[in-house]
Amino acid sequence: MSDGPSADFFPAARRTALHGWGRTAPTVADVVTPMTREQVVGALRRRSERGVIARGLGRSYGDPAQNGGGLVLDMTALNRVLDADLEQGIVTAEAGVSLDRLIELFVPFGFFVPVTPGTRQVTVGGAIGADVHGKNHHADGSFCDHVLSMDLLLADGTVRTVTPEDDPELFWATAGGMGLTGIVLSAVIRMTPIETSLVSVDTDRTKDLDEIMALMAETDEKYRYTVAWLDCLAKGRNLGRSVLTCGEFARLDDLPARKRAKPLRFKSGSLVTVPDVIPGRLPNKFTMGLFNEMWYRKAPQHKVGQLQSISAFFHPLDAIQEWNRAYGKTGFLQYQFVMPFEREEALRKAVEKISAAGAPSSLTVLKRFGPGNRGYLSFPKPGWTLTLDFPTNTPGLARLLHELDELVLSNDGRLYLAKDSRMDPADMGRMYPRLEEFRTLRAKVDPDGVFVSDQARRLGLA
Ligand SMILES: Cc1cc2nc3c(=O)[nH]c(=O)nc-3n(C[C@H](O)[C@H](O)[C@H](O)COP(=O)(O)OP(=O)(O)OC[C@H]3O[C@@H](n4cnc5c(N)ncnc54)[C@H](O)[C@@H]3O)c2cc1C
Repeated sequence: MSDGPSADFFPAARRTALHGWGRTAPTVADVVTPMTREQVVGALRRRSERGVIARGLGRSYGDPAQNGGGLVLDMTALNRVLDADLEQGIVTAEAGVSLDRLIELFVPFGFFVPVTPGTRQVTVGGAIGADVHGKNHHADGSFCDHVLSMDLLLADGTVRTVTPEDDPELFWATAGGMGLTGIVLSAVIRMTPIETSLVSVDTDRTKDLDEIMALMAETDEKYRYTVAWLDCLAKGRNLGRSVLTCGEFARLDDLPARKRAKPLRFKSGSLVTVPDVIPGRLPNKFTMGLFNEMWYRKAPQHKVGQLQSISAFFHPLDAIQEWNRAYGKTGFLQYQFVMPFEREEALRKAVEKISAAGAPSSLTVLKRFGPGNRGYLSFPKPGWTLTLDFPTNTPGLARLLHELDELVLSNDGRLYLAKDSRMDPADMGRMYPRLEEFRTLRAKVDPDGVFVSDQARRLGLA
């Protein structure tokens, strides 16, 4: 039993408007922040017929962690590490523990999280709910490939320990299942051993899309972590010009003598916070054109073995808190698709369309995925994944995204649910061929449709 607050204490629900990281489409829900497992079970019993959904740190861009008119369980107070085997690097953490906390606690012991998205401000529950990927998908798969088991609260109020061996269907429906199979209470995670907290980074500036794709195809084998930043506004012979960064955790021998004394030092924290009073939008076609030019030129043509901190290499955006406010009140959306290998022409067409439209994505990132896992709704599959951030008032954005959807669909690609806020529900089954299996499994474990989100209603996921 937990040693949290006494059973008679029950946190009150707060009626709150919630939105995703993109700050679009807020809806009002009763939000409860349980502090113990027992309180999660108690809250589940108090739901109305609008159902319930778990929420982590709200870093999905759209509406999967919202439930307008219903109950939202903010899981961030369930934030204890319950067990750690420091020989094997096996950690048991409550669902509300952030990857930031895991990194802070375990890097000094020589372990890194197996997979991290571009921000470490996500919870273990959210990382499972979206089966998140990082810069190492081609080498290590996605987050749930490193989850050994999880305690899942089911719709009937029972808690089941689910493993890929004993309960593969429920495990893989929950991995990337956007919170719709139950509430993850805790998970056992296999961490990655590291000798130092510094990443040895090689950087290359490429002149166009062909060059970056060729270079990335070559580097898959050589590096664990790979990512390219693309200048999406570049045109003509500069189309797709990029900066590629590839990294490996440095070995002790790679460090200069002065850094060897504390090779596993890690400092979390952010530098500044963006105020919530931005008059217009900072990212627009003009500012992004300038920024892209500067960013591209600042990158070295070719540099090897530069030692970077975890924060600088994996999570540069975390240096600025609440940076999503820079888009103003109407917000922005992120568009991420995967295009299978052998469909490079389609990827090129997509980049051409974005550049021709002059759509000012402030962050355009290209990665390569290795094989996907058995997650019914898990996003990664072998191919190229391109991620773009667009202010919602970009002229012609709806038409551009519609055209990109068509291109993605007709080339067997798919969009990422953790980033989605606007896709056509009719496309869902074509992009995710296991959707029907997911629905069938869900109907078995949650026949009354207790777990539901705005996104699930919008896309008919459940
Ligand atoms: C700057 C930035 C960079 C990003 N980069 C990447 C990236 O590189 N790769 C990538 O994959 N993603 C990336 N993301 C997206 C992010 O990793 C996912 O959206 C992640 O799910 C967010 O976790 P969260 O804790 O904030 O969950 P939330 O956004 O609060 O919830 C996400 C989903 O998980 C479910 N969930 C949350 N907690 C639980 C629980 N305890 N039990 C069951 N379900 C639960 C929710 O119901 C919801 O469906 C990025 C996001 C940002 C803001």
